[in-house]
Amino acid sequence: MTEPLHVAMDVRAGRTVLATVQRDRVIDLRRLEHGPDVHADVLADGVAVLRGRAPGVVAGIAGIWRHRDRLGVADAQPFAALLADVGARAGLPTWWLPYGAALAWGESLRAPVAGPLAVFALDVTAAGGVICAGRAFDPLRLDLGHLSVRADGLKCSCGARGCVHAYASETALQELARDIDLSLEAPSAIDWQTLMDSHLSGFQSESPQETKLLARRAGWAVGIAASQLVDAFGVVEVRVRTRHPDQWRVLAPAAQTAVDQVCGPRAPKLAAADAGEDAFFTGAVAAGR
Ligand SMILES: [Zn+2]
Repeated sequence: MTEPLHVAMDVRAGRTVLATVQRDRVIDLRRLEHGPDVHADVLADGVAVLRGRAPGVVAGIAGIWRHRDRLGVADAQPFAALLADVGARAGLPTWWLPYGAALAWGESLRAPVAGPLAVFALDVTAAGGVICAGRAFDPLRLDLGHLSVRADGLKCSCGARGCVHAYASETALQELARDIDLSLEAPSAIDWQTLMDSHLSGFQSESPQETKLLARRAGWAVGIAASQLVDAFGVVEVRVRTRHPDQWRVLAPAAQTAVDQVCGPRAPKLAAADAGEDAFFTGAVAAGR
């Protein structure tokens, strides 16, 4: 029997990516440009096009919800309503998963591990999830980006203190770097890629002491968060996805030191994420199977 297809939908202000997914493989991607808000009609039309092209039966629509800088599944209600509307127009069941949990699930499908796996994404927003026994643990509540590593730590945009996001997200690193390193002269909208290429990639030899401190602190935050997950879930492996490989290379030593200090022999394996950019699509689809 042919494996049914699913459509996975990553809706953002200005554009939506629709992926056709078969089991753990993305077989087609279609990008829709639109205004800041998108109407259900536009997305339903996009789904219809994919169904027309797809060699098989489309069985459902998985939505990926991205929250910027905030916890709060309640904030996802407009997205959930939009998705339900698209599903009604397309005549297909819908479900959704936060980005961090979807990415973690996709990562575990791509490269399974014998035991609980945690995945962090240190993107513009930090996010992440835990996969236990082949499923995302409480994905609508647990967001690793806002796991607090220090009660009196840096203030996070979600309102809490000490979140991983406040230390190790791209946004946090850019803002903190600007604060301490005037030579950076970064405009507010500086491209992260440029920042990393020009600054942190020559890190070991060239970066000023303050920047090393910054990277150490960010890595430390990831390591402490990883250690907490060992206690809470018995996590045996922690993977970190960054858009720029140097970001993790720079953060990893401090993260490793932190997990070794806190966990000793129970320290989880720390590694760069294996999955590519599209892993969150396959993860989101897995949630509905
Ligand atoms: Zn937070």
